[in-house]
Amino acid sequence: MVCVRFAPSPTGYLHLGNARVAIFNYLFARHNGGKLILRIEDTDRERSTKEFEESIVEDLRWLGIDWDEFYRQSERFDIYREYAERLLREGRAYECFCTPEDLEREREEAEKKGIPYRYSGKCRDLSNEERKRLKEKGVSYTVRLRVPPNRDVSFKDRLRGFVSINTDDFGDFIIVRSDGSPTYNFVVVIDDALMGVTHVIRGEDHLSNTPKQILIYEAFGFSIPEFIHLPVILGEDRSKLSKRHGAVSVRSYREEGYVPEALFNYLATLGWNPSEEREIFTKEELIRMFNIDDISKAPAVFNREKLKWMSGIYIREVLDIDTLYRYALPFIKEAGFDLTDEDYVKRVLEKTKDSFETFAEMTERLNPLLKKEINMSEEALNLLRTEESRVVIEAFLEKMGDNINSQDVKRIAKEIQKEKGIKPKIIWQTLRACITGKLEGVGVDIIADLLPPEIWKERLQKGLMYVSSSK
Ligand code: GLU
Repeated sequence: MVCVRFAPSPTGYLHLGNARVAIFNYLFARHNGGKLILRIEDTDRERSTKEFEESIVEDLRWLGIDWDEFYRQSERFDIYREYAERLLREGRAYECFCTPEDLEREREEAEKKGIPYRYSGKCRDLSNEERKRLKEKGVSYTVRLRVPPNRDVSFKDRLRGFVSINTDDFGDFIIVRSDGSPTYNFVVVIDDALMGVTHVIRGEDHLSNTPKQILIYEAFGFSIPEFIHLPVILGEDRSKLSKRHGAVSVRSYREEGYVPEALFNYLATLGWNPSEEREIFTKEELIRMFNIDDISKAPAVFNREKLKWMSGIYIREVLDIDTLYRYALPFIKEAGFDLTDEDYVKRVLEKTKDSFETFAEMTERLNPLLKKEINMSEEALNLLRTEESRVVIEAFLEKMGDNINSQDVKRIAKEIQKEKGIKPKIIWQTLRACITGKLEGVGVDIIADLLPPEIWKERLQKGLMYVSSSK
């Protein structure tokens, strides 16, 4: 059975690049009826935090990813210790007593000679007595894998084909640090082997780790999984996507109110397309059509505008009204809106959903519809202070009945134009300024169909106050 894993380190928020790795693992597992493991790689106790772990788990769920098994590496130290001891017993690994200063000296020498640094192997052949003596003296030590010199370690990456790296490029590397904590390259192999991982799908930044990991597989006689290293995501300037390019965490897109299905859709089809004439796919369609061999080998370029556009498509065309309401609700609460009757809000969303692409934009656009009191912008106030505006508002109040809808507004505007000789533009801008407090935004006629008429009237009367107070 296919078994894959997503293995984030909880040292920060879930990055878009990692989210994409998670999505590809998820699609691969579900397409093949296999298993997805979520493994929290928190062996670096200093940089890992519980808060980041929780945020990663929440953000994955928010994206619509679920998993079948969950592990935390910090709970598996006994297992790793046992496996390290086994390698020591079998002579496949050895204790290294070199101090950080010793190693620094070696590094400097290599640098002087202009050759790539690798450990000299000084402790490789210490006698048992010597080791015992140093341990008794309390000298701290790391554990290093005994790496065969000058061997080409080769493997076939499913996307890039044949990859080969010579062991002289890295030498005997550390598998257990002097504080007893195991290193990434060591634990990842033990976990992948014990958890039955069949395919390792991860970012290409791990490509240079793979030969080291293969040597560990070999040392234990574990069978080696298939490797698929995904190209990284670049910013529009073609450098690796980072904070310099703006928001790069899933969390920030979530907070800005992007539609999660849109982010999933966007990241899944970034560098992979199910070769059809469209770009919007449900998760089920993506699972059904997924083919890992079709992922582009070229780096993918992140385009925020396109993601935002896609979020807008989901709001306008894909989400049903109940989902739209559910997604909008936390933003409505956060904004402190008070016109929040469920049926009313749903009617508002249905009528205005083509005017925003994220829920943060929604709170701005819908302010005049969902909040009783509106703030007046400086431009709106200036407009209302004109004599023409006074005429428009007075006439409108006179002509308006107890109800108001878009037809009424159009009819009354025409009448005012005819009777008072005021330009339509001024009439509409005056109404807009009164009703929304701004000079741009959702159409006044649309608002007339939604906003309770008593509030409509109230705002016109208030508008009149601004006019008279300026006299
Ligand atoms: N914990 C590693 C990372 O966050 C992933 C390791 C792997 O997938 O092998 O980059």
